Amino acid sequence: MPKKCVICEETAQFCVKDTSDFYCKGCAEENFGDLTLLLAIEDQAKELKKVIDDSLDDTHTTDDRQDE
Ligand SMILES: [Zn+2]
Repeated sequence: MPKKCVICEETAQFCVKDTSDFYCKGCAEENFGDLTLLLAIEDQAKELKKVIDDSLDDTHTTDDRQDE
């Protein structure tokens, strides 16, 4: 389930650390000017997916990647 930008409701790519505020790239740049203040959601998702993939590796052999 992709997160949505709190401003424009586009798919969010960043979140503010320790909050549940999510922003797309455009709104993040506009509001913060510095994306290093934000966490990239995609990186978190990839990390999580990697962990899940590793643990499911034995039972799931199909390669049905989803681009989000
Ligand atoms: Zn936005």
